[in-house]
Amino acid sequence: MRLYNTYTNKIEELKPIKEGVVTIYYCGPTVYNYIHIGNARPIIFFDTLKKYLEHKNYKVIMASNFTDLNEKILAQAKKEGLTEMEVANKYINAYLEDVKRFNADDSYIKPRVTETIPEIIEFVDELVKNGSAYKTETGDVYFRVSSLPTYGALSNRKIDELIQGARVEVRDEKESGYDFALWKSFNEGIVYDSPWGKGRPGWHTECCVMINNIFKGMIDIHGGGADLIFPHHENEIAQAECAYHHRIANHWVHNARVNFGKEKMSKSLGNVVWCKDLTCDPLAYRLLVLSFPYRNIIPYTDELQAQFVDQYERIKSAYNKLFLYLDVNNLFDSKVQTEKSVELMKRFDEANDEDMNTPNGLSVIYDIVKLINQSLRGEVNNELVVSIFNVFDEMLKVYGLNYKKERMDEETRNLYTSWLDAKKVKDFEKADKIREELKNRGFAL
Ligand SMILES: [Zn+2]
Repeated sequence: MRLYNTYTNKIEELKPIKEGVVTIYYCGPTVYNYIHIGNARPIIFFDTLKKYLEHKNYKVIMASNFTDLNEKILAQAKKEGLTEMEVANKYINAYLEDVKRFNADDSYIKPRVTETIPEIIEFVDELVKNGSAYKTETGDVYFRVSSLPTYGALSNRKIDELIQGARVEVRDEKESGYDFALWKSFNEGIVYDSPWGKGRPGWHTECCVMINNIFKGMIDIHGGGADLIFPHHENEIAQAECAYHHRIANHWVHNARVNFGKEKMSKSLGNVVWCKDLTCDPLAYRLLVLSFPYRNIIPYTDELQAQFVDQYERIKSAYNKLFLYLDVNNLFDSKVQTEKSVELMKRFDEANDEDMNTPNGLSVIYDIVKLINQSLRGEVNNELVVSIFNVFDEMLKVYGLNYKKERMDEETRNLYTSWLDAKKVKDFEKADKIREELKNRGFAL
């Protein structure tokens, strides 16, 4: 498949380092608050990418971190009367509930800063020793941006311009304005001993060290929101180049943000939609997200969401109708393929192979919805509808729009047969009663 690579500004073939395996890491949250629907976009996007790669028979190893040590967590702990760890755990649990809310696989690897401290200290120490970083009198350690001539390659910035532009804000203890903290002297809350005194690691360092811990070298895809390109990902690359002599990942993949209408979603504007407060089916939001190319900003509004609630109902209604037909007639057979189903799956794969074009992938799903509604009218071609069900089911799983559906038990099947009989002899009163009962059992006819 081909994916846009922020590092080269090109759509490029994804060539896994190890054949048959794709390794992915994307930056996770700082856990001091609940997440809003914009924060859920990378969860949804990278989960979909992972599921698509698995559909293509790759083994995918994915990791995403929790920044569980941060001044914002300390401030929140004071506000809530909790310890920093209690705050971190509270919002990690809330985050994982949101992961499940959007039907994302929660079995990925979840490194935490507080569990990576010795390795981070060792890493910073290495950078100090090889001259890429320096300690200040106050006990901070900074990365020396001027030590890496290629700094700025990811975000297309030139190091000279950066340093020139930053001259005004240079703080005394820093050699240059763009030098960034690897270790910060700190005396409050959770602190760790280091060769530079008590303190905490800087934010840009953890991801490099975690990736190295987990994957022992370069990975295939490093992802995150586009707001992380500079400085966070640029700084990750800089450190890795100086410590590991590689740029961490071959492919740098970034999703765009979610706006509220035309405005940025922010607490100060009061237009934030929290995931936990979504009133619609969360999968209707997942459908909304996948209806936009991942590199385009989504202009979320309640009206837009309402449209996708309807669209998702259409998808579910076709799926339920076909499921019921196959169930009643005992036709489930995952091996059945037809020319039509092969063609549909090919179109779906082609859409995703070209930089995860999920809007095009969804257009195949909408074609299937139409096809189901046509095919179940009048004389039904059983082989065709079974084959369509198989590809439809697979596509919904890849996009995480699938949901659990139980087959009828014997008693329900008998009820269903008597409903058909009642309709046949035009006993509508009886038919309606049975229909109500079937609906209560989860079979809306
Ligand atoms: Zn990161």
